[in-house]
Order: sequence, then structure tokens, then C-alpha cells
Amino acid sequence: MVHVKEYYVATSLEDAHQRLKENPKNALLGGGTWMKYTHRILNQLIDLSKLGLSAIEEDEKQITIGALTTLRDMEVHQSIKALGDGFLSQALGSIMGVNFRHIATIGGSIFSKFSFSDILTPLLTLNVSVKLYPDEIKPLEAFLEDKGDRTKILTHLIIEKQEGHGYFKKVAQVINDFCVVNVAIFKEKETKIAVGGRPQRAKLTTEAIKLIKDSKTFDEVLFTKVAQQGVQELRFGEDDRGSESYRKLLAETYIARGLKEVYSKWWYPFI
Ligand SMILES: Cc1cc2nc3c(=O)[nH]c(=O)nc-3n(C[C@H](O)[C@H](O)[C@H](O)COP(=O)(O)OP(=O)(O)OC[C@H]3O[C@@H](n4cnc5c(N)ncnc54)[C@H](O)[C@@H]3O)c2cc1C
Repeated sequence: MVHVKEYYVATSLEDAHQRLKENPKNALLGGGTWMKYTHRILNQLIDLSKLGLSAIEEDEKQITIGALTTLRDMEVHQSIKALGDGFLSQALGSIMGVNFRHIATIGGSIFSKFSFSDILTPLLTLNVSVKLYPDEIKPLEAFLEDKGDRTKILTHLIIEKQEGHGYFKKVAQVINDFCVVNVAIFKEKETKIAVGGRPQRAKLTTEAIKLIKDSKTFDEVLFTKVAQQGVQELRFGEDDRGSESYRKLLAETYIARGLKEVYSKWWYPFI
């Protein structure tokens, strides 16, 4: 369990940032669901709850989600549900139980860059940026590739409103477990495919989607080729949840099925 010497409620983002800089043993608190299981010995645990970071705001172009928004509030939000036939809501809803999701926050989930994350996988297939304090906005993909700076504060997640079709599949040994693998696909004008829990962190395919771009026919033969290419270009590994070959087989199967699903919705939107 985590040990905390002092609990501190930040009065501003600058206040929280200064405290993070002051001492490497000072850390931010999201929902605390992950933090509490760590063996960290902290000097100060910094609570951001008085800084107005738990709202979901939107305009016609984007949805802006405060870092302290709970996974449950995101999951049930109408505009999140509207994205990609609800694939992001489905991914959020696959994490533990409702009570847990009422506590865990999106800021803690994104900043931790968990390799088993069920949230990063669908988010990578959308146009998403993260807003960090001080003064930085960057695409989610670039943020995930960064080494990371523990003195930064994730303040908002910005999701562009897109009208395409989405697919999400999490394979787990038992309900509430971490994934063996997860797959997300989003098709608007272009198609994006991400695979997570390989057991490395979620990543987009690059070569596989070129096969779609270069193709004039979209059928099961193509989807199988794309799935095979996706598995070939991403790195898979082994842990106690599954072997490398099992993960590859799952990913290939669900990429092909997902493509079939999103393309059939694209062709027959009213079914
Ligand atoms: C038992 C269990 C099962 C889980 N299963 C799954 C699963 O199946 N799929 C899945 O995707 N996830 C799963 N998770 C992860 C879960 O979603 C995380 O606990 C959650 O993402 C962490 O969110 P939190 O708000 O509680 O963060 P916290 O535990 O409060 O913080 C986590 C880390 O993020 C930092 N942090 C928090 N907020 C910010 C911020 N705004 N800016 C910068 N840094 C910040 C903290 O300092 C800390 O280092 C599981 C977790 C647990 C404990």
C-alpha cells in the first residue's frame, strides 16, 4: 500500500505544479484507485479536486474532458456514446465494476500510460489531444511516445467529434481482469486500427491501413490480409495472461471481424 506523509489540496494548477517540482516524492491524486496499490512512499499527495477539472464540455467540433472526470461519467455521456457507435463507452464500461468507474479518473488513466489500458486503444483511433499544464497540447499518440515528465499535470483530454463507425473488443480470461489483448477500429474517411495489451501499450498499425488505402475492393479477403499485416507489424509478447502466439491469433481474428463490422455499417448505415 502507498504511504503518504501529507495530504494537500491544491489551490491552483501553478500551486500543484510547483509542489511537483519541489520534491520528487510529491505526487498527484486522481481517483487513487491505482495509487493505493503501489508501494510508493510519498511526501505529499496533491489533490486537484478544487480546480474545476471534472467537467465534460463540448461545442460542435470537440469534447473537452477535465482530468478529474470519472470513467463512469465519460462512459454515460451522450456525446461520448455517440462516437463510433459507442465503442469508446463500451471500452470504458469494460473496466471493473460501476462503483470502481465512479472513482477512477480519466487523467490518472491516461497519464499512467498503462500497457493493459482499455481506454488508450480506442482513443488512439480517434483524433485526440491531451492538454498539459504548463502550457502544452499534444496529440495523444505523441504524448504516449514521450518519455514523460512527472512535473506535468494532465488537465484535459480533447476528443474531436467524428462521425464514423467504431469497433472495440477486449479479450480477458475472466470478467474484471486485465485484457489478454484488445482491439479498436474506427472508420471515418480513413480507417485506424489499434491493438493494446500485447502486452505492450496500445499502438496504431501503419502498414496494415495502407492495404486498405490502396484497395478498391473491401471484402473478407482484404480484411484477412489487413489483419495479418497488422499482427506482423506490431510487437507481441508473452506473460501469465497469454502466449505471444495466442495474442497474435486473437488480434488477427478480431481485427478481421472488426473491419467486417465497421465496413458493413458504412455500406448499410440504416440496418
Ligand atoms: C484492480 C484494478 C483493475 C483494473 N483494471 C483495468 C482494466 O481492466 N482496464 C483498464 O484500462 N484499466 C484498469 N485499471 C486501471 C484503472 O482504470 C486505473 O486505476 C485508473 O486508470 C487510475 O485512475 P485513478 O484516477 O484512480 O488514478 P490514480 O491512482 O489516482 O493515479 C494514477 C497515477 O496517475 C497520476 N495522475 C493522476 N491524475 C493525474 C493528472 N491529472 N495528471 C498527471 N498525473 C496524474 C498519479 O500521480 C499516479 O501516478 C485497473 C485498476 C485496478 C486498481
